Amino acid sequence: ASLEAKVRERSAQLEERNRLLEEQNQQIEQLSLLKDQLISTVSHDLRNPIGSILGVSRLLLSLEDLRKDPEQMTGLVQQIHRSAERMFKLVNDLLDLSRIEQGMPPQREVVNLRELLSQQVESFQPNFQAKSLQIIFEPPAANLTLTADATGLSQVFSNLISNAIKYTPQQGSITVSTQMQENRVAIQIADTGIGIPSESLPLLFTKFFRVDNPNHRAEDGTGLGLAIVKGIVEQHQGQIQVESEVGKGSVFRVVLPLDPTLNSF
Ligand code: ADP
Repeated sequence: ASLEAKVRERSAQLEERNRLLEEQNQQIEQLSLLKDQLISTVSHDLRNPIGSILGVSRLLLSLEDLRKDPEQMTGLVQQIHRSAERMFKLVNDLLDLSRIEQGMPPQREVVNLRELLSQQVESFQPNFQAKSLQIIFEPPAANLTLTADATGLSQVFSNLISNAIKYTPQQGSITVSTQMQENRVAIQIADTGIGIPSESLPLLFTKFFRVDNPNHRAEDGTGLGLAIVKGIVEQHQGQIQVESEVGKGSVFRVVLPLDPTLNSF
């Protein structure tokens, strides 16, 4: 009877091992699928701007008359410039994301939140004006500081504000405000833009995810911005939340822990 028990035990162990192996195989298959998807998305997103640079530069090289016409020349060089910028953004976003995904710890320095947010809001003034958007800025207290990666946090707010601008029609308004919550601070970026369908909300922070929108061509963005935002916020032990209503607007909220040794509450 004891031999029988041993055999049973052994076969149960083998079964368990097979199950684990099967699970691992499935994970490997899934990762390989993800990798294929990544390669095809990136090559597609790089192919279009490279194609445009090649085509336009070929035109400029072959047509001497074109080069003599400053207006046409400027238009074509601008087209090359836009395409190169698009590729540069994609490659930079990919590098940022890969750094975040590798779990590199963020730089830590003392950051004044009011200054950081003011700088971001200020840097977008030309974009607000270009679309006649009203900007309402309710900054935090002047002495509120966090230990954080200043470059990373700037990128978080820059991505959120530029999305708010991009997805808000002319004459809309964007509000950047802050609220204190015990030992945390919540920074809200609210817009009166096109909003996000509720079924897209759970996928919003996934890399390469973009809401199908007939008014925004795929080349307007990389679909990596919000994945980077989430990565950086989580590096800081913070949270990112979103609420949105189609046709009304969206609210993105970044909640960051405050260092009690730097601030008295
Ligand atoms: P993208 O480069 O496409 O802007 P993001 O990761 O920043 O990539 O955003 C992913 C998608 O989320 C966007 O394509 C857009 O559909 C949607 N989105 C992001 N922010 C907003 C917003 N403020 N209002 C409406 N839709 C938004």
